[in-house]
Amino acid sequence: MNTAVMQTYARYDVTFEKGEGVYLFDTAGRRYLDFGSGIAVNSVGHCHPHLVAALKKQAETFWHCSNLYHIPDQQRLADRLTANSFADAVFFNNSGNEAVEMMAKIARKYQFENGHPERYRVISIAGAFHGRSLAMLAAGKQEKHLHGFGPQVDGFDQVAFGNLNEMRAAITAETAAILFEPVQGEGGIRPLDVDYVKALRAIADEYGLLLMADEVQTGIGRTGKLFGYQYFGVEPDVMALAKGLGGGFPVGATLATAKVASAMTPGSHGSTFGGNPLAMAVANAVLDIVLADGFLENVMATGKKLHTGMTQLVQKYPTLFKEVRGIGMHLGLRCQDKVVNGTVVVKAMANGLLVVPAGDNVVRLIPPMIITESHVNEAMAIMEKTCEDLLAEGAGG
Ligand SMILES: *Cc1c(COP(=O)(O)O)cnc(C)c1O
Repeated sequence: MNTAVMQTYARYDVTFEKGEGVYLFDTAGRRYLDFGSGIAVNSVGHCHPHLVAALKKQAETFWHCSNLYHIPDQQRLADRLTANSFADAVFFNNSGNEAVEMMAKIARKYQFENGHPERYRVISIAGAFHGRSLAMLAAGKQEKHLHGFGPQVDGFDQVAFGNLNEMRAAITAETAAILFEPVQGEGGIRPLDVDYVKALRAIADEYGLLLMADEVQTGIGRTGKLFGYQYFGVEPDVMALAKGLGGGFPVGATLATAKVASAMTPGSHGSTFGGNPLAMAVANAVLDIVLADGFLENVMATGKKLHTGMTQLVQKYPTLFKEVRGIGMHLGLRCQDKVVNGTVVVKAMANGLLVVPAGDNVVRLIPPMIITESHVNEAMAIMEKTCEDLLAEGAGG
């Protein structure tokens, strides 16, 4: 398409003009079942009436107010996030990248304030994705993202997925923190082992490092618990949120324990838009829904039905798929080597279902968390048709 928009995205040939609940409608009026949620963002579906009302009310009150002044809705959201997590303090920003990058800043400042200015390096895990700023490219170390953007920002090391020996060996006198995603999202819905994360906590304690959870994708109920770290029986020191937190309104948050947060003093960090009243109003409305009785139980139960359905699909089409991974409504269908995940995504879209490709040849199913069993059945029917179409075209053979 000929456009003045910078050509950084390989976009699908479709344009949406309206969203309603679990559905998106394109400019031709065609309806799509949205199991991509704008990449885990539309956590409670499109144009949820409660979010629309909150946004409208705030839009008629005031839009922006500098962080030079108190913003009550920030305090309310911070109180609710901390009451429901390990954390004691929250900084609001505008995106996942910012939320994770601030964790790297916190790691340096915390070590600096505690007598270890030499500790500044962050260790991440292969397959990670932490955002696209220069520093977060260095944290993620994905060749395809770094290409042409060298030299890498200093201060980031990476170890093999799930390998504790490598993790221990990578720690030096300069290490400040360990950074992990409870389930790697862009990396292909790869959950970390419970024992592995428990060991990361122990290692961090042993060496005086911060354990930092990137929950930009897994946070706010996506995995069936409010936060992904809650599966591991240990708590991080710092956590980043974004995607699902605003339900479609851009917002990010960096959470920390009181001890860690005390390193961040007035003037040490800031954001013009961070904690904007519109974003706070919508994020509080998202929490109204996600924290309501029974909501997370439904994410778990309906997510399980989707998982079961996908498992049946893998059994029925073994030449197309290898396995289903993930938990809650954060699921990945791993394709066989001869099948390209992008082909499955395009074919599903042609059949009216939106899903999202991820690393490791995975097709992600990350629906709005308001889906019911009937949406699962609808998605399954479309996936079956998609598999038949793929086989008819000789895929997997
Ligand atoms: C999406 C994502 C990011 C980056 O978020 P942006 O809002 O695109 O900057 C960082 N970490 C994880 C785990 C993500 O899924």
